[in-house]
Amino acid sequence: MTYQEFLKNFLDKGYSVETFSEKGPEPEGKLYLRHDVDFSIDFAYEMAAVETAMGVNATYFIRVDAPTYNIFSKTENRKLNWMQENGHIIGLHYVPEEFIKEGFSIKISFDLLSSAFHFPISKMFTVHQPLKRAEWKALSEYVKAEHSYLDVNISYYDNFPYFADSRGSFRFGSPLDSEVFFFKKSLHLNIHPIWWAGTSPFAEFTSRHGTNRLKHQIIQNIYRDLKENYNVSI
Ligand SMILES: [Zn+2]
Repeated sequence: MTYQEFLKNFLDKGYSVETFSEKGPEPEGKLYLRHDVDFSIDFAYEMAAVETAMGVNATYFIRVDAPTYNIFSKTENRKLNWMQENGHIIGLHYVPEEFIKEGFSIKISFDLLSSAFHFPISKMFTVHQPLKRAEWKALSEYVKAEHSYLDVNISYYDNFPYFADSRGSFRFGSPLDSEVFFFKKSLHLNIHPIWWAGTSPFAEFTSRHGTNRLKHQIIQNIYRDLKENYNVSI
């Protein structure tokens, strides 16, 4: 199933796709759609383009510490800004262990991320690693007390129907097969672009080989940069 087909199921059922906001969720008929961008701005951009073509917007959570992308590189930065200009919301995808380290606070991460965009970003954030409940609470309290940023999972969407394709599958079943979907209850859906980005362009993807494509793309980027800057034959 392609991402378009997957998303179309929700639209056909009558769901409205919502971005994350400080208001918090409504219980009926809303799909709160989020993407944690772990590996690739290119894939996120392709997913955003699919959504834009379908007339919906999502919230994209972006890292500032990703080993595999750079929010300030010319092409990736353009793509990120295109996403924001087309109505997608940008938040921070945060590595929680950093919050206890001096000098790399969540505020610095937010400031870095905002400086990559032409317009203000959202104050919502998500975390990269699963946290224990106590750690969540500690992070939540720290963040609220210090900076008033809003973590999606605890502050606003705690105890709310949640589905994620972490590690490449819906571990607790597809949302489309759920009672939540059957009764058109609202849900929080976390889709990682990497698992849907098997082929290019995104509009045609049918398989989950995003990791291979990612490796290929990173090598291409290195070669391109080498060619642009050095007189080398590759
Ligand atoms: Zn992540």
